[in-house]
Amino acid sequence: MPLKLPIYLDYNATTPIDPRVLEAMMPCLTGDFGNAASKSHAFGWKAEAAVETAREQVAGLLGAAPREIVWTSGATESNNLAIRGAAEMYHQKGRHVITCLTEHRAVLDPCRHLEAGGWRVTFLGVDAFGRLDARQIDDAITDETVLVSIMAANNEIGTIHPVAEIGAVCKARGVLFHCDATQAVGKIPLDVEAMGIDLLSASAHKIYGPKGVGCLYVRRRGPRVRLTCQMHGGGHERGLRSGTLNVPGIVGFGAAAEMGRGEMTGDAERLAALRDRLHAGITDRLEDVPLNGHPTERLPNTLNLSFAYVEGEALMMKLRNLAVSSGSACTSESRDPSHVLTALNVPERLANSSLRFSLGRPTTAEEIDFALDEIERGVTELRELSPLYELARQANDPPGPEGP
Ligand code: PMP
Repeated sequence: MPLKLPIYLDYNATTPIDPRVLEAMMPCLTGDFGNAASKSHAFGWKAEAAVETAREQVAGLLGAAPREIVWTSGATESNNLAIRGAAEMYHQKGRHVITCLTEHRAVLDPCRHLEAGGWRVTFLGVDAFGRLDARQIDDAITDETVLVSIMAANNEIGTIHPVAEIGAVCKARGVLFHCDATQAVGKIPLDVEAMGIDLLSASAHKIYGPKGVGCLYVRRRGPRVRLTCQMHGGGHERGLRSGTLNVPGIVGFGAAAEMGRGEMTGDAERLAALRDRLHAGITDRLEDVPLNGHPTERLPNTLNLSFAYVEGEALMMKLRNLAVSSGSACTSESRDPSHVLTALNVPERLANSSLRFSLGRPTTAEEIDFALDEIERGVTELRELSPLYELARQANDPPGPEGP
């Protein structure tokens, strides 16, 4: 079968809806259109039952109890509810929050918002692979610390933080731990109990569910976490998030979570093999292509490479048959080097030559092999035009002694 172009290799930005997820959603988009808050008739009861099934499915993927899941419009909202909601609820303890320089903007910006309101925010640095050490958290916690917010896995480079160790430190020090697990859910095992997570953000559209729906896990026991709601209204979701529930979206999220639970191990093995085939193929064919991110503690589907002597944006233009991203899609309108690569101390010229390849359930070996040929051609053509590359080649390959 001929390949369908362009080839999508940007699954960390978003995923297509799995056909099985769409099938589960269809009834709620047509006949079963009830409002889950309508308590007086069968349309409402049916919608409510569907929402509660989805709550069990999503909770099951996270090791949570269904009552601990609060539906939101996506991980951005979940992060805002967790960070601002905890800060407002517990401000009397102190006004200090700890986070990390490589977080998504949906965490960094709410933290900056707190800072503007007089809070102290510690932005922890990372090692050259983008990883935190749990001891950094221990060192940064003070009597005034209300919340630690650290992602499970990074969207740009895929680096996985030592989440369970961070959770243990937070527990020992009596500080709430929020984890933006948007990129980790469905890709690596997560368990809010084993990992000591008190608040966890997730999004359906990264796990083959629909866009515009997500959840926040809010621990109910040991400790019971309370949040100040950020959306006032009809008191849905135990008063934590008012607004008519997006029933088809939630049902889709539930189906996607159920599927993710069953297919995670198989997907991870297959995608890691394809990802490594892409990586090995590129480094076999091209020199000076360093990896950004951790060599092993990394999401199985993610590969971020810097193509030295080539502009990432220019390379993307060359690779018209591939859908990849340079830096995070959410901030790609900015031309600044990625804040994540900057935090890793990647030099600006290499940060600007980086591309992220992220694979997903539909990715095939044929697509990877096609991508390899495209990348080799694109990089080679651009390097041929690069005076810097020419200079570097001459420096590495000095001319031999003058012949007779
Ligand atoms: N956090 C991380 C780590 C992400 O990758 C994303 C999506 N790019 C978000 C938060 C925001 O998620 P959503 O699109 O559901 O608002």
